[in-house]
Amino acid sequence: MNTENLTKEEILRKIQELRYKVNYHNYLYYVKDTPEISDREFDILFRELKELEEQNPEFIIPDSPTQRIGSSASEKFEQVEHKYPLYSLDNANNSEELTDWYNRIRKTFPEPHKVEFVCELKIDGLAVTLSYENGRFTKGATRGDGKIGEDISTNLKTINSIPLTLFTPYDRNIPLHVEARGEIFMPISSFEKLNEKRREKGEPEFANPRNAGSGSVRQLDSKITRERDLDIFVYGGVFEDHITPFTHWQTIELLQKLGFKTNPHIKLCENINEVTEYCNKWDEERFELNYATDGVVIKVNDLNQQEELGYTSRSPRWAIAYKFPPERALTEIKYIEASVGRTGAVTPIAHLEPVKLAGTIVKRASLHNADEIKRLDIRIKDKVWVKKAAEIIPKVIAVDLKKRNPEAEPFKYPEKCPECGTLLERKEDEVAFHCPNFLGCPAQVRGRIEYWVSRDAMNIDWVGESMVKKMTEKGLIKDSSDLYSLTIDDILSLDRMAEKSASNIINAIQESKNRPFNRLINALGIKYVGKETADLLSRHFYSIDELKNAEFEALSSIDGIGDKVADSIVKFFKNPYILDMLKKLKDSGVKLHGEKPKITEDQPLSNKVFVLSGILKTMTRDQASDIIKKSGAKVSSSVSKKTDYLVVGENPGSKFDKAVKLNVKILKEDEFLNLTSV
Ligand code: NAD
Repeated sequence: MNTENLTKEEILRKIQELRYKVNYHNYLYYVKDTPEISDREFDILFRELKELEEQNPEFIIPDSPTQRIGSSASEKFEQVEHKYPLYSLDNANNSEELTDWYNRIRKTFPEPHKVEFVCELKIDGLAVTLSYENGRFTKGATRGDGKIGEDISTNLKTINSIPLTLFTPYDRNIPLHVEARGEIFMPISSFEKLNEKRREKGEPEFANPRNAGSGSVRQLDSKITRERDLDIFVYGGVFEDHITPFTHWQTIELLQKLGFKTNPHIKLCENINEVTEYCNKWDEERFELNYATDGVVIKVNDLNQQEELGYTSRSPRWAIAYKFPPERALTEIKYIEASVGRTGAVTPIAHLEPVKLAGTIVKRASLHNADEIKRLDIRIKDKVWVKKAAEIIPKVIAVDLKKRNPEAEPFKYPEKCPECGTLLERKEDEVAFHCPNFLGCPAQVRGRIEYWVSRDAMNIDWVGESMVKKMTEKGLIKDSSDLYSLTIDDILSLDRMAEKSASNIINAIQESKNRPFNRLINALGIKYVGKETADLLSRHFYSIDELKNAEFEALSSIDGIGDKVADSIVKFFKNPYILDMLKKLKDSGVKLHGEKPKITEDQPLSNKVFVLSGILKTMTRDQASDIIKKSGAKVSSSVSKKTDYLVVGENPGSKFDKAVKLNVKILKEDEFLNLTSV
């Protein structure tokens, strides 16, 4: 990233922003098993952060995700301290990066040293460690942050390929203590079956086999784990009180003899050319496997050489994960449909000849908007390349013009809304066409309710897309607030509805009444207000009334809220339909407020006035303000006689001079943290 034109303050802001994003996506990926972005997009964010920190080492903090492995263990499970740390792997995204890694190894072991490598498929699942004492399985845990993982022993015991008792190898005794490392995964065929069942039940589908596998093994009820078809490949181990192997290859052989399942495609390579051949071969052939693999792990074979190369804080220097390029596939566009979303935006969707892509069958892809169709010159019946942009939402990236069908016809963008027939509009500053029929367009009504019930909003299980469709078509609900007055009889009046499911639906709806305030703000579906902005708003406003009455200036003065967003929020709360819906929500007992930080006189900092100045190293201004408010104190923007503390970061500016003049107590960042953590 080119940062030449940025000031130090801007660089730090960028770093903090990236840290926030990486932490957020780590949490979704490792703890919630619901990633929102593709691994590649994540890797780009991570790499950008790492590079910025390397260029500006003064901003590196121990808590940065670049200095840590994975994510903290979830509190759902008991935590286990690993006897031997579990590491992450550095990535090579192309052959040049692989060569760079090889050259680094060669610096430590120049020719004529012999360096062998072991190549293994990088299974895209969940890393676990399995402990055995005297040959018996004692504990199994997730990697967590590398030092502390989650105890998932009971669930792991339900996986048939994990031995509960080890074999005695014919030439050796069983080591007293064995720690095997491996990857739990769900076969692709089982993943597809599981999603099919969930679709039928109206439950949210898993994004990919990795999330399905990880979600299944991290269940509180091990019966659920048992029902899911999970498997393991073991790829490493530590053996105590035993003659240790000399090479990684021997480690794998010993693991096999002890009864562990290892991957059959492992290969010992004499030199880097063989490694490259292996990577290229599996880039092509991986789709024939019944499990997802996102790359090749290459390890230096000799364990003494491994020891000499050592580790960084997150990963071994003797191994690297070569990531396969994103998968693409060629298929045909059968027809293009204009689909109307909750905001009225009309998106062209290509219906494709089904094609297998990254382990799943792809039938549809978004074409984004009319400009994109024009840019790529996409026509119906064209042969197109599709890519999994987010490993979740496929995207058409190019047309194969050489294979253009003479009958291929351009898509005529509709002039009227395909759902309600209203004339579409296109605003000057927007690329998408819109249906302006906010109230009457059934697709928008459905879309808003679907958004309301979705996982990151009010998270109402049992009410998915098809259920919302049934309810709106039957006229049971017209907006999200109507959900809360539904009765069991209403639900039973829908097609093919059993008593048990009806009561599950009603319970799930009622249970959602007390969702945290940030989720409620997100659920409202205000234009330009997604999850992150909703979080931000919930830290500044503690009730819907406060937010509703906020003026444009108050909103746009919040760091992170631009004029466009502020304007959209103000307009949203002027809409009589929304005001009516909010009233109905209130009457139904839906919680429309957050928790105001408790300010009690016995809090040591209550009513103290803080001012912030300069760049803080470990947090943004917003986060610092949050901490101050939570400790009962106030934040002011300028120093005066009433100021109790000035918190200073780097380059504090004129506030510092004024504070010195007025004898205001000055706190450095660590002093501030100490003071507010009491
Ligand atoms: P990693 O996936 O790059 O590599 C380390 C992991 O590889 C090990 O922990 C192990 O589980 C696994 N592995 C599989 N086969 C292996 C083998 N044969 N030998 C050794 N290890 C093997 O590192 P990570 O820290 O687990 O995850 C980082 C990756 O996760 C990122 O590169 C990103 O792609 C993905 N991620 C994605 C998101 C998202 O939002 N999409 C968020 C966080 C992480």
